[in-house]
Formats: sequence, C-alpha cells, structure tokens
Amino acid sequence: MKKCTSCKLDLELKEFSKYKLSKDGLNKWCRKCSKEKLSLYSNTEHGYMTNLYRYVRRRVLQKRYENYPEYEKAKRRCYITRKEFFYLWEQHKKKYGYTCALSGESIVYNTSSASGSKTNNGISVDRLNPKIGYTLENTIFVSNKTNQMKCNVTKELCAAIIRAHEERGL
Ligand SMILES: [Zn+2]
Repeated sequence: MKKCTSCKLDLELKEFSKYKLSKDGLNKWCRKCSKEKLSLYSNTEHGYMTNLYRYVRRRVLQKRYENYPEYEKAKRRCYITRKEFFYLWEQHKKKYGYTCALSGESIVYNTSSASGSKTNNGISVDRLNPKIGYTLENTIFVSNKTNQMKCNVTKELCAAIIRAHEERGL
C-alpha cells in the first residue's frame, strides 16, 4: 500500500503509475489524481497553449504524412521554437485579445479539446498561407471553427470569391 499525496488515500501499488526518478519508482499521485491534475493543467492557458505547440511541432510526424513528398511535408512543418510560439501568442493577445484573428469571435483555452473538436471556439493555430509551414510570419491564432472552414483556402481563392460576388452584384 502507498498513500497518494494528493487524495491522501492508502491505495494498492497498482493504482500508481511508474516514475523512474522517485525512490520507490512510482508516481507520488495515484492514477486518478494524476489524470485530474493533467486535465486541470490542460485547461489553464499555459497548459492548453503548450499542448497546442506540441501538436503543431509534431504534426508533420503524423503517420498519415509519412509517405508525402518533402514539399508537402514542408507545408506542414513547424519552423518556430516554443519561445517564438509563446511570443506570437502574446503579440496576438495585444492586438486581438482573446478573439479569432480572422472572424473576430471569442476564443477560449478552457476546452477539453486542444485539437479534438474542430467546430468549437477553442484556440487553434493556423497557417495563413496553407502552402507555407508554421513560420513567424505565417502562424496565426484562430478558433477551431474558423480553422476548419478556412482549411486550405488560399489568397487567390479568396480574391476569386470576392470577384465572383462583385460580378453578380452580391
Ligand atoms: Zn490520489
């Protein structure tokens, strides 16, 4: 038996996950408490943004891009450091506050879906130009919903949509 330092319950050892750096090789918090703490952290601004950066950083390594040619991989590659990512986020907040850079709707970090749900107003990282990867100039913060709608829409397509509207007087 071992006492969890969070919930203070005496629990069986199998209730603790392994943690190499501790004396007994186990985590100080039980599995349930660890999970709760992790989810609490994910719902803080720093936790959410950290998860988001990790997602962006690893995106190109996803299995579905494995056999993509290099020029396709380059479009999805992250060229910014964690520090730069957080700098960009601070700059975004100065300019837009907690709103989407494109739609202006409010964006939030206290959602359980950093990259899961694509239809809510959770903060999402977008490449303004989908043909370029995540660079300092190309990385913007939008809502999951906006990101989903924008997808691979290019500047040229936007111009064409506006042109078509004008031609039809819409
Ligand atoms: Zn516990």
